[in-house]
Amino acid sequence: MSIALIAHGGAGRWRPGSDEDALEGLRVAVEAGRAILARGGRSLDAVCATVVALEDNPIYNAGTGAVLNFDGYCELDACVMESRESRVGAVSGLQRVRNPILVARKVMEETDHVMLTGDGAQRFARVMGFPDHDPVTPERRADWFDKRNRIDEVLGEHAHKMRRFLKEHPEYAGGTVGAAAVDADGVLAAATSTGGVTLKMVGRVGDSPVPGAGNYASGRVAASATGTGEFVLRSLATRAIAERVEAGAGLAEAVEAVLARLGEAYDADVGLIAVDDRGLAVARHRTRDMPHAYFRGDAAVVALMRV
Ligand code: ASP
Repeated sequence: MSIALIAHGGAGRWRPGSDEDALEGLRVAVEAGRAILARGGRSLDAVCATVVALEDNPIYNAGTGAVLNFDGYCELDACVMESRESRVGAVSGLQRVRNPILVARKVMEETDHVMLTGDGAQRFARVMGFPDHDPVTPERRADWFDKRNRIDEVLGEHAHKMRRFLKEHPEYAGGTVGAAAVDADGVLAAATSTGGVTLKMVGRVGDSPVPGAGNYASGRVAASATGTGEFVLRSLATRAIAERVEAGAGLAEAVEAVLARLGEAYDADVGLIAVDDRGLAVARHRTRDMPHAYFRGDAAVVALMRV
């Protein structure tokens, strides 16, 4: 069985001059996952190690360095899923924790539930021993002040202007992280973590913590989505990839078909990564950039800003 892991750093547009940092962060994160898979470890541990490395790197919109909501604080969403028994755990609206993906894993392993949200998720994280951590960085705070000062320009009279603004300035979203892997036993796992979108309404939950939308693992495919979550939620994009593969499509064909559908239906600014049970890894996106990195078997890690 061929091992493989692929990770993304968010669909959008990266600031000029930041490409190499984005790629280096992904290389380091994929190497962390690769080390686990190469010694016969589980895909679940590998995707978690990859996402933890990305959450701890403040240039990505997940964990430390996540974007702020309308009121100026982080609400973090994350989901982890393993193909074995379709085990899945998720958190949404988590405010003060360093690694939301590890809290999501605890939800999967230590509770009878799939998702915990808001105060309940926070309380659970403390009980599980995750210490208080403020994920807001000075850079994200400054960015938030700048956008709040131009709120009329950003929002105008109607909320649909926010959507248009995000479409014209996709660098405002992006930076979400995700990973998908298959281990030597053929078990697949996916993990996704995000701060959501800048200036989102307080309480807004995107696609990332929702199984089958932003994150999914079946017996054939593991996948993670990024971009404006409302489109991914409406199309259940990662589950749609799995359904196509289960119906006989190749992995690239399935990812491309789902992305094309997102384009036709919504002109959506999204990206997708996936691995299958044979160790194939695929990345596709409709945004200008989607930094991603992957490896297969014994081959070296490949890191790319766009496909
Ligand atoms: N999908 C994430 C969300 O909508 C954002 C992103 O991937 O950039 O919350």
